[in-house]
Amino acid sequence: MAVKKAVPEVHKFGGASLSDAPAFRHAVGIIAQRPGPQAVVVSALGGITDALLGLANRASAGREAGLKAEADLQRRRYHTILEAICPAGAGRQETAAEIDRSFDELDGLLGSLLVLKELTARTSDFVVARGERLSARLFAAALAGSGVRSKYVDALEVVVTEGPFGGASPNLMLTDLAARKALRPLVDSGVIPVVPGFLGAAPGTEDDTDRTKPRAVATLGRGGSDLTATLVGRALGARQVSLWKDVPGLLTADPRVVPNARVIPQLNIREAAELAYFGAKVLHPRALIPVVGRPIPVFVRPFADPRAAGTEISARRTLDKYPVKALSAASGQALLTVTGSGMLGVPGIAARTFEALYRLGTSVSLISQSSSEQSICFSVPEGAARKARERLAEVFREEIARKDIDGVQLQGGLATLAVVGIGMAGHPGIAARVFGALSSAGINIVAIAQGSSELNISFVVGSQEAAAAQRAIHDAFQLAKIGGGGATHAEHADVILLGFGQIGRTLAAMITKNGAKVGVKASAKTGGRNGVPDGAGKDAGKVSKAARHRADKVRIVAVVDRSGFVFEPRGLSSRGVAALVAWKKAGKGFNKMTGGQAATPADALTFLQRHALSHPILVDVTAAETGPLVKQALGAGMDVVLANKRPLSGPRSDREDLESVAQAQSRRILFEATVGAGLPILDTYRKLVESGDRVLKIEGCLSGTLGLLMTEIDRGRPFSQALRKAIAKGYTEPDPRDDLSGADVGRKALILGRLLGFAGEPSDVAVESLVPEAARALSGKVFLERLEDMDAEWERRATAARAKGASLRYIASVTKTKISVGLKMVDGTSPFFSLKGTDNQVAFTTVRYRQNPLVITGPGAGLAVTAAGVLNDMLGLTG
Ligand code: ADP
Ligand code: ASP
Ligand code: MG
Repeated sequence: MAVKKAVPEVHKFGGASLSDAPAFRHAVGIIAQRPGPQAVVVSALGGITDALLGLANRASAGREAGLKAEADLQRRRYHTILEAICPAGAGRQETAAEIDRSFDELDGLLGSLLVLKELTARTSDFVVARGERLSARLFAAALAGSGVRSKYVDALEVVVTEGPFGGASPNLMLTDLAARKALRPLVDSGVIPVVPGFLGAAPGTEDDTDRTKPRAVATLGRGGSDLTATLVGRALGARQVSLWKDVPGLLTADPRVVPNARVIPQLNIREAAELAYFGAKVLHPRALIPVVGRPIPVFVRPFADPRAAGTEISARRTLDKYPVKALSAASGQALLTVTGSGMLGVPGIAARTFEALYRLGTSVSLISQSSSEQSICFSVPEGAARKARERLAEVFREEIARKDIDGVQLQGGLATLAVVGIGMAGHPGIAARVFGALSSAGINIVAIAQGSSELNISFVVGSQEAAAAQRAIHDAFQLAKIGGGGATHAEHADVILLGFGQIGRTLAAMITKNGAKVGVKASAKTGGRNGVPDGAGKDAGKVSKAARHRADKVRIVAVVDRSGFVFEPRGLSSRGVAALVAWKKAGKGFNKMTGGQAATPADALTFLQRHALSHPILVDVTAAETGPLVKQALGAGMDVVLANKRPLSGPRSDREDLESVAQAQSRRILFEATVGAGLPILDTYRKLVESGDRVLKIEGCLSGTLGLLMTEIDRGRPFSQALRKAIAKGYTEPDPRDDLSGADVGRKALILGRLLGFAGEPSDVAVESLVPEAARALSGKVFLERLEDMDAEWERRATAARAKGASLRYIASVTKTKISVGLKMVDGTSPFFSLKGTDNQVAFTTVRYRQNPLVITGPGAGLAVTAAGVLNDMLGLTG
């Protein structure tokens, strides 16, 4: 009797969905509750692939310190999950032994790498493969433990590749054969195969004809488990393939960039493939190839909500009202341009160009050729750009010598964006709408290409503008109305608070009281001399319903400072916060607290990275040099909110480093509170730029302390008394010379300058110190005793100002090319003339506000307003 072929459903669980024991139980539950035949593909535990790659890289760089400890931590992570999801017994013992075997092997490999100091793609694949393999072992054991018949099947028996290591392509025909042979009998007899994703058998080498020897393992490129799932789906003629992810479906845009992105209910397979290919980091670029032309729909489904529909990717065409359905972006791109007036006559320039790139293994994501044939330009990943340029210069050596070709130019720091929709073909004017939206947002387009398929329009913009460009296009095509629900489930953003000083405590209290003080914002109006608005006071403390609702969604899961850290995965309560405050007030460190742990901040972050935090945000409210920590957090996929100015106001290369990590990880760094506390200064800047204006100059009084000092001196008070008053009110730093030196204002000015494109270093900022030369070397105590010595000089300055009808102000003046900070006399024509007390004020001179600058005034210092500024940024990230 012929056995009836079962038509299974294939499920893939992504790394973000398999992070801890509860997640495994949830995944097993999804499978166990479904009737009918199934097959399962799994990714490595969240973060493991990166961790394994990191270990291999460290070892091959000869950095032995901490290597074994880190590997042991990962080993324990697997054991902990195993013990939680699998009942004691033979199955568990076997899997535990498998974990140990794999990690013993890893220890050995790392040892060899330390000696060899070289990491080949082949070895790297072999190292990371254990991530997926152990995940699949755990999954199979967990299924078996809950009474479901299941079996681990290794990827080498299922996927056959054509190489190369590190980014292999599947051989579809051989994979079909192998996968059927390995999986079909199991599926037909009601056993659920569990296959590690991301991996396949490397092609045999010529001297490797012995078929009994196992082939080496090759990876399919990052995110490759999606591809394994569709390969299995194809081989088994699956009913459907479900990719379970941490998003509610395929969205109109990356939700981290476009907060009002929506789930697309259904997408044609060609559209989805185009999106994946052009950088949407939700599907492996080649994941859909195996199912093209087959009746196998692929669903992107929310792991958090198994009953939700998610997105169907299939041959159907729906949503015809939306000619454009989604956007995607690839950052870290560079543009290479081959130009020359003599190119017209030379045949095959394009062919030779792309042949050379193909040989280099460089992928080209966008090509545009001018119709006059005087140039070809194309984008490549930034990391590959220099080599590609060198190679092309070699290839065209003769043409360049003959001056038929001028040369090959390289422009870096770019992003390519793709606007995708199958309905674009029938709708004229789509390109015009795209570029109209960009031009009204003031975004410059560096290059454009329209694919011949008319399924997509791609273009290149500066990396800095990629996010704004996506938001502008998303709005222009009204994609927020596409109907499939919002991007986030009612999940929390998990906040890691770095620093627990005054601001940290105030912020923690605000969050745990459900954002009772959310929304402290000043209004911005144009104002000349006396028409300076004072909006901050009016709006302070107002909470919009929406903001309060969103504030419920952030919780503090960890507080980290130099003494150690506390971790509370369910979020600190207001009582928890009060206990921490009391503890710190008593002068004790977190390391000594019950539930607290001793660790350096870097180790604390490493610890926290390993936990399945939901939308983690690092909030830095220290005043320390935290650049490396911020980088670590971004690299681990956290968003970052800063009140601390230092990470952004140090050497230019440090700042660029942070930005490129953020970009590579699609994370954001928000820092409104670094300048003017809760005043919407950066926000106003952004809105000006987004509305197509250009900011020419920013001037401001950026220090509450110095502001107070100046108004008091203006009023005739001696300097010494004015400063003592500021100290008594707690406005100054412990050593008031830190305020008087202007260093702090200089940092703020540099942060503003870098918005305008200032390319200099901190040392290029001209800062006038108000501490006389002779007072700089004094001890703090002696300095305070001798304040009166400085009164005469200040008296002279004040009198001189008064004689001219002017006031003294400490002003930062910022343009793209020059930043200076110092004492100025301002008269009634200046907006700063009437500024009072600790208020801050910033004036934007722009193309539109050239005569009458746009002025923002309000309280720019103080705990509550600073904490509110930080909180607003956090809520901005939760969308
Ligand atoms: P997996 O856990 O299956 O490997 P990924 O992490 O590879 O899942 O993909 C899901 C992530 O892709 C989401 O967290 C989301 O931030 C990102 N993403 C980027 N673009 C989109 C988009 N258009 N739709 C959905 N998610 C997107
Ligand atoms: N674990 C691999 C990665 O992180 C493959 C995957 O998740 O699909 O890229
Ligand atoms: Mg993935």
